[in-house]
Amino acid sequence: MPILCSNCIDKRAVLKRPKTGHSLCKECFFWAFEEEVHMTIESAKLFKPGEIVGIAASGGKDSTVLAHVMKLLNERYNYNLELMLLSVDEGISGYRDDSLETVKRNQQQYELPLKIVSYEELYGWTMDAIVKQVGLKNNCTFCGVFRRQALDRGAIMLKVDKICTGHNADDVAETVLMNVLRGDIARLRRCTAISTASEGDGVVPRCKPLKYAYEKEIVLYAYFKKLDYFSTECIYSPNAYRGYARTFLKDLESVRPSSIMNIVHSGENLSVREGVKMPVQGTCNQCGYISSQSLCKSCVLLEGLNRGLPKLGIGKHHRLHDKILSKEPLTEREQRKLKSVDF
Ligand code: SF4
Ligand code: ZN
Repeated sequence: MPILCSNCIDKRAVLKRPKTGHSLCKECFFWAFEEEVHMTIESAKLFKPGEIVGIAASGGKDSTVLAHVMKLLNERYNYNLELMLLSVDEGISGYRDDSLETVKRNQQQYELPLKIVSYEELYGWTMDAIVKQVGLKNNCTFCGVFRRQALDRGAIMLKVDKICTGHNADDVAETVLMNVLRGDIARLRRCTAISTASEGDGVVPRCKPLKYAYEKEIVLYAYFKKLDYFSTECIYSPNAYRGYARTFLKDLESVRPSSIMNIVHSGENLSVREGVKMPVQGTCNQCGYISSQSLCKSCVLLEGLNRGLPKLGIGKHHRLHDKILSKEPLTEREQRKLKSVDF
């Protein structure tokens, strides 16, 4: 006998919600998923009427579902937001070029303006070229730092008031675990925030409307809605350490699905003991972007690439920042230490 939807008790259930265990029909699942995102937006007051909101769009499932749901809720509940798509082209052939084709189709499907900013135009380097120089061990550090700034720069070009990203509950839980494992207290404190205020010039506030949505449900939503998204993994995605944290989280989830939300809640409720030293945010002396050092991470990484010394931005080389700022050449010994890609 077919199982009936536990919500409408009318249609046949097609799935068991990973988050609640309820058996639901397609329509009731769509409604529940969308309403939960709406509740998240409402209770955290993520947007104000009249705001221009840039949706960070990669063509992947999370950002495609985010664009779809944001457009739908904006119309259903009259948020009165002006929505746009904002994409970053890291310059990864065989991966990002294909996923950007998906974003371009999404742009037509959702009738939203699209802006693509590329690493090549912003930094003079593609990820393909960076990987050639730095190898496959720390490439994601370069990519992550550059992406953060690229999104801000794109958002400023588009004059958006806020950026929303497709981070889901699994991503947040994974980041909490990663920061615990790395002992990064400053990031641990920040990483569960659903929105960030403007941290100064050049930094656009960000928010995560899918923060409480399980990745599995995002996949189900995209699948049953037949959304057009790109599902291939990045060809440069070794990031072994994060991979272990992800596998650990998935193992926990298979035993107890609530683990994901429990980790998110634990992260939200952690408080840092008074007296723990936190980095003080200032601005980069070279580009003006926020930074707790005299040079921002992006400028240091770029300087390392341009000088053929890729290790410069990996690890702690703060004492070299003054030399970089004054364009002073490094000594042979310093250069030797920063040259090898075996790091
Ligand atoms: Fe960039 Fe690494 Fe993500 Fe690939 S996996 S897009 S290199 S951060
Ligand atoms: Zn800088």
